[in-house]
Amino acid sequence: MEVNCEGCAGCCIDWRPLGAPDDREREGRYRALDDAYHLVPLSRDEVRGFVADGLGDALVPRLFETDGGSSVRIDGHAVAAVGGRPAFLVGLRKTPKPVAPFGGDRVWLDACAFLDPETLRCRIHGTDRYPERCRVYPGHNLELDAETECERVERVHGEAGERLVDDAVPADLPPPPLGRGALGSTVFLHPDPDALDGAVGRLVAGEATPEDRAEFVACAAASAPGTGAVNDDRRERERERVLAADSWAGRADADWRAAAADPGDPATDAPDPAAVEVDRGAPETDDWGE
Ligand code: SF4
Ligand code: SF4
Repeated sequence: MEVNCEGCAGCCIDWRPLGAPDDREREGRYRALDDAYHLVPLSRDEVRGFVADGLGDALVPRLFETDGGSSVRIDGHAVAAVGGRPAFLVGLRKTPKPVAPFGGDRVWLDACAFLDPETLRCRIHGTDRYPERCRVYPGHNLELDAETECERVERVHGEAGERLVDDAVPADLPPPPLGRGALGSTVFLHPDPDALDGAVGRLVAGEATPEDRAEFVACAAASAPGTGAVNDDRRERERERVLAADSWAGRADADWRAAAADPGDPATDAPDPAAVEVDRGAPETDDWGE
């Protein structure tokens, strides 16, 4: 597998306003209840790492609605569940940012909290926090013969082979995040569905509070791989850490939201990304490498 990511960021931004072909995350038997595009699912250990680094405010949960699968009713939604406990993922927060992908003008698009909107490079690439899912992307798509985001961008904004240079499946591909054995590792269970009344509705409306997000992030961090168990003491400690987080990513999110126009609208008068992100401690993205 070889990808030419320079200047692309197609898998780090929500480019539906720029012609992304479909909305695969909200189709089929299990449909995401939030509206995030291309969520990056994190492992339990990755969740713990972000929280320990004071970046718990950059994480978001994802629950699923299901028609035919096991579910529990919360806030009017059939939330996918195992044994009556809602199942969820934890991923990286999306923030509206002024970006100019695919050779176009600068527009407001939801982007990964860790994407540098100027260079379209990842601020945590090459660090301990760089998610495994991003490192191996689009390996799982290639393994499943599912169209990659690289090819989708080529189809709409470029030429075949421009981004996905070599489509061989990587030899070191880890298990898929939603496959067998994911329980407690990338798919987590919330032990108390009654505690989620109101929170699910806010997630669906894009109005989740810091407390809502912390509820799920803490459960994920206190989960045990291979089981649906959650350690209560650890969960409380992790919740406190998440709620105490005051990272550059969280503060930048508030500023970007205050300044943003609708997705896809011109971002001609957007604030300076260096002032919004770098001056608050965001790592710069000087070096390019895989
Ligand atoms: S869509 Fe493909 S080429 Fe573009 S940044 Fe993502 S992995 Fe790289
Ligand atoms: S962590 Fe980096 S590579 Fe992964 S989605 Fe975010 S910006 Fe893109």
